[in-house]
Amino acid sequence: MQNPDSRIQRIRRAIRQTMHKCPNRSGDSTTPREALYRSVLENLAEGVVILNEACRIETINPAAQRIFGYDAAQASGLPFCRLTDSDIHLRNACDEFRNGAVLSIVGKRANGETFPLKLSASFFSHDGNTLIAFVVQDVSAHKAFEDQLIRMAYYDHLTGLPNRRLFHDRLAQAVAHADRNAKLTAIFFLDLDRFKTVNDTFGHEFGDLLLVSVAERLAGIMRKCDTLARMGGDEFTVLLEINNIQEAEAVAQKITESFAQPFLIGGQELFTSTSIGITVYPLDASDIDTLIKNADTAMYHAKSEGRNNYQLYAKQMNAPAAEKMRMENTLRKAVSRHQLRLHYQPQAIVHCEGSPGHARMEIIGAEALLRWEHPEFGLLPPDRFIPLAEESGLIIPIGEWVLRAACAQNKLWQAAGLNPISIAVNLSPRQLHHPKLAAQIEHLLNVTGHEPTRLEIEITESMMLHGSEKIVGTLRAIKQMGVRIAIDDFGTGHSSLSHLQHLPVDTVKIDRTFIRNITSNPNDAAITQAVIDMARNMGLRIVAEGVETREQMMFLQELHCSVMQGYFFSKPVPSDEFAKLARAELSAYDILGLQ
Ligand code: C2E
Ligand code: MG
Ligand code: MG
Repeated sequence: MQNPDSRIQRIRRAIRQTMHKCPNRSGDSTTPREALYRSVLENLAEGVVILNEACRIETINPAAQRIFGYDAAQASGLPFCRLTDSDIHLRNACDEFRNGAVLSIVGKRANGETFPLKLSASFFSHDGNTLIAFVVQDVSAHKAFEDQLIRMAYYDHLTGLPNRRLFHDRLAQAVAHADRNAKLTAIFFLDLDRFKTVNDTFGHEFGDLLLVSVAERLAGIMRKCDTLARMGGDEFTVLLEINNIQEAEAVAQKITESFAQPFLIGGQELFTSTSIGITVYPLDASDIDTLIKNADTAMYHAKSEGRNNYQLYAKQMNAPAAEKMRMENTLRKAVSRHQLRLHYQPQAIVHCEGSPGHARMEIIGAEALLRWEHPEFGLLPPDRFIPLAEESGLIIPIGEWVLRAACAQNKLWQAAGLNPISIAVNLSPRQLHHPKLAAQIEHLLNVTGHEPTRLEIEITESMMLHGSEKIVGTLRAIKQMGVRIAIDDFGTGHSSLSHLQHLPVDTVKIDRTFIRNITSNPNDAAITQAVIDMARNMGLRIVAEGVETREQMMFLQELHCSVMQGYFFSKPVPSDEFAKLARAELSAYDILGLQ
């Protein structure tokens, strides 16, 4: 693209030449050079309008004729103000133009239509008069493009309402405004009740149409100065300037009542309702994030109060029960909002070879460990949310996601040329009790194309201890597919290895509490040794967990425990870092040499 400045310079030069070579502006052009300059002006893509000393149009080139919709004869003699809808005083603007300014004004076409116009000017002295030549540019297309960019960045594509980002901006402004004017600002957090059921029953397209109708209905209730935004999914927010809390309550009441009328979607009547949480600046909090969080908490409180109502935020709402409910609802959305991550920790075999004291690590597997990229709290470890997921039943969809993501990742690593490894995935008790677990795993193996023998599922000892015949049946079905089964955290429960003999188990993972003191506590060393020996006799694979030091690694090596996992090798890391580790290992990663 050409630099607009140099283009404007070029045009100015052509105009200047045309003017100077023309001895008599009203007369015919005579010299070939003048004819040339006129021709340049005629063929320019940019519009040029030349005004006489009375600020009336003297010359308008074809590009400018197209912009303004006049032909040369119609335009000739018109005052300049007919070409613009802006109140521009040419004399005042002259100084700016002389300094090279390009003004953005509103242009007006012959048919009265207005449009964004860019204007720059050059001045010429001729016969003692000053003439002005404008370079004019219709920037409707640019403006439309800019507007579209702004719309995309700040507006929700489905409903056309402001999005989360714009809502934050407006809230920041409202807070500043409320401070200056000693006013109150109310923030509403709205969530449709049972929207998920609508989506599941009638499909997403229907759900989208409902969201659009809800947005329209809400917009109809708001005043022009209020902000209504869509935060995502079925969540809307409202920003109101109020004089007292009763005003906020009145609006909330109006919104709630407006949902008494059904929504007409695709010829079908549908009733829905909304739960609203309200917080007020500066009474409830002084910063934007806390305000939004409070409104959200109050909204969950409204849900727990039977939905279809509004609640004003109160400090005691942050009590554990409300917080838990809030967390559970955010966790519910974590899968669809792609907030779950898997980190991978290598399982390695240590080869002692070459000179004494040197060892090579071979990565033979990875354990997939779940993390939640929480929008407020950052990366959360599993113990912060797995118990909640387990209790609420959310572990079923989450667990399915983990299995699928882990298998898909392992296939990706293989496709990227890493040595084939096995992947271990943790299962929770509720997953193990799920009647469709075996079928689910079979389906996942089919869709991801993952080899069954390279998948290992980890279950804890206690899950086996209380294992009913049904669970054992499920495990047998899984094992029959070729998938391996590992007992995690072995030693923390009260089962014995002999108990495992009758169960479909392939691997025993010795809990890290034994490994921690293995070199200092003879008891732990003896237990570990006994477990390793017995497991080997039973034909089970052994993995030592929580290996943190070189001494622990050497000790386990002497006990003939080949597979190890722990911070000594690596912490759990994201998939790309894991790939780097595995690549380094391929080129004879000398772990002792790294010390
Ligand atoms: P786990 O299955 O026993 O996983 C090993 C845990 O020990 C991981 O913690 C890991 O980061 C940590 N660890 C590994 N090496 C060392 C070490 O050398 N020293 C110490 N101090 N710790 C080490 P993480 O990732 O926080 O996971 C905790 C537990 O959460 C896991 O214990 C597992 O029971 C559960 N979990 C993780 N991901 C999932 C999942 O996808 N589904 C289910 N149901 N549970 C999961
Ligand atoms: Mg595990
Ligand atoms: Mg473990």
